[in-house]
Order: sequence, then structure tokens, then C-alpha cells
Amino acid sequence: MNFLEALFTGAKAMVKHIVGAVRSVVRGVLNEVGPPAQDRPAALGHSAADRFFQQAQQLADQERELAEKAQRDRKKTEADVQRLRQLAIERERVRAEMERANAQAAAQQLRERAGDTLLAKLDDDELSSNVGILAAKACPACAGMMRIRQGALAAETGQRRFYWQCTEPHHPPCPTIKLDPSKHDAGVLRLADPDLDTPKPQRHAEWNRPDVLAQTHGRLRQHLGDDDKQVVCPQHLLPMKLLPKRAPGGRVLDSYEYVCLGVTAEGKACEHKVELQTMPQVAAMLLRTEGEGIIGAGIRVRTTPRLDPRPHLPRIAKPGAAASASGLEPVAGAKDPRHHAQARQQEGQRDAQAPAHADVGAAEEAPAKAADQVEHWVE
Ligand SMILES: [Zn+2]
Ligand SMILES: [Zn+2]
Repeated sequence: MNFLEALFTGAKAMVKHIVGAVRSVVRGVLNEVGPPAQDRPAALGHSAADRFFQQAQQLADQERELAEKAQRDRKKTEADVQRLRQLAIERERVRAEMERANAQAAAQQLRERAGDTLLAKLDDDELSSNVGILAAKACPACAGMMRIRQGALAAETGQRRFYWQCTEPHHPPCPTIKLDPSKHDAGVLRLADPDLDTPKPQRHAEWNRPDVLAQTHGRLRQHLGDDDKQVVCPQHLLPMKLLPKRAPGGRVLDSYEYVCLGVTAEGKACEHKVELQTMPQVAAMLLRTEGEGIIGAGIRVRTTPRLDPRPHLPRIAKPGAAASASGLEPVAGAKDPRHHAQARQQEGQRDAQAPAHADVGAAEEAPAKAADQVEHWVE
């Protein structure tokens, strides 16, 4: 029986079936992962990823120069067209190597840490925590790498929709593959993670505590402008940056997105984005970047009696109260690197700073946008 659905870096594997003892599932997955490749060092560290990103950046820079030249001259010479073609070929080479390195690193980490993993049933929070991350999973159409995307909440069920999306820039795009955690006997083999191991009702209650939301929002804002090397633009192969949305809603889950600073051959801003829409996404981002997610990261069950004599009143009545209550001042408008982007003129209003006010409750219920609807469903 085949177990392995996909591998992620950080000793994480999605498995198709949870049958039999955990140990037999782990053994089955390790069998499918296979032994380390002989032809190159097994452990590919950060330096390997950085090398690919540097190459991708050079290609993006040259492409940007050509786009600027074309706009200036109002035409492309035959030599420019040739050069663009060469850059595209070069990028495909970088892509293939990056995917291979990523797959090897993911496999190696699982081999090394398999003994520390646990097997969790796949649910929407598990899926959400991996949204936008490159997975070692081959696209059935072209064998390219895939990643999980999430769509809107389904009106009937209130469940969020998930799907696998190929990262190869084909036209038309490869079909997406629906991912339905409730329909499969699927699981995740991964290291312990308090955000996902805490029983669902309890973790949702924790994530939505006003003080936790405020603290989380403050931590998240400190990463504005940062590259996330796990969230890569499928077009430009560049790490995407966490930035405020064009029209931030002001809450943790409706204000931020990963964007790519690359430009298209026509000189337009790259359209690839990964919105930060759920608390599992935020928790996973904090875990990747700070080594601690939300639950368990200095969030303690309140043991000291409150001085506030009104225990059942909402704690946040006015903007700003939550942030100061948690002792964390929000870091408004951190470094905004977009002035480097050539496409910035079209983006004027996106340079608006992060909202200065704090969250007001129920951030998780932020409505998803129609634009997030998935187009190509494949069962
Ligand atoms: Zn594909
Ligand atoms: Zn891009």
C-alpha cells in the first residue's frame, strides 16, 4: 500500500491512509522516501536554497532591465527577445535544481527525525498550516512541484476548500487537485506542534483569545518586509515577502499577504500572492521564523486573578486596548521594501502602513473573498 501523499521540509509527510500501527505507517513512508541519493551531499542546508534564490534574483533583475528598456524604447529588439528566451530557459534550469534540492532536503529531514514524529489525522487546520509552502509532490500532469492553496469557505458547510496547485508556469495551468480532509482517511506525519496537537475546540478558543490575538498580531507585524524562504513565487522562484494588503482590514487575518517583488516581461508587478487567512497559517509562519507558534509561545493560562471587576465584559472596547493590554506595542509599517520594485507606481496605495489599531475579537471569522474561489476542480 502506498502511504505517501507529499513531503514538506521540517520532517513532515502527508499520508493517504492511516491504517495499522503508527510505526508501520512511518516505516511505509520511509520505504517510499527511499535511501539518500548517492551523487551529492544528502543534507542541503540554507546555503543551497540561498544559492538558488541568488540565481533567481539575477534572472529577475535582468528581466526587469529588459522590461524597463522595452518601456523606454517602446519596442523590443530581436536581441532582447532572444535574451528573454534565454532567461526563461535558465530559469527552468534553476527551477529543476531547486525542486530537486527541496525534495532531497525534505526526504533527508524525515529520515533523520522520523523517530520523533507523530501521526495526526488530517484536518483543515493541518492543511491550512501548509498553504503556499513548496511540497515535494509531483504534479500528475507535468511532474513539477506542487503546493497547497486554500479557497473560500464553502457556504453550505462553513469548511474551507483546499487544493493542490502545480508550481510550473504552464499555459494553460495544470489542473488543480481537490484536497478534502473530511473525505479521506488521510493523516500527517510530523513533529509535535502545540498549535495543531491541542484539541480543536480548545486551540480555536486559544487562538481567538483577545490577548493572544493582540500578541500574535504584534509578533506577525515584526516580520513585515521579511522574505519567507518556504513561500516561493512559482513564476520568479523568489522567496515571497510578507506585506500589508492593498486594503488591509486591520485584523490579523485580513491584513497581510505574501507577495513577489518580481516583474513580468511586460513590466507589470508579479501577480502571485499567498494571503494570510487563517490562524494555522500564522502559527506555522511564526514557528518557521521564530521557532515558536502561537500556543505554547509564552501564552499561559491565566492564573492570576484579574484586577478588572467585570469578568464577562468584552476585554477590548476600543482600538489599541488589546495591544497595550498584552504589553506588546504593534510595530506599525515595518520596513517596506517595495520601493525597489519597478512596478511600484501602480501600487501607490499599497504603501500604506500597517494599521495601527489592534484586533477586535473573532478574527478567524474574517470573510474570504470571492476572488479566492478555485477555478479548476479535479476530483
Ligand atoms: Zn504541472
Ligand atoms: Zn513572482
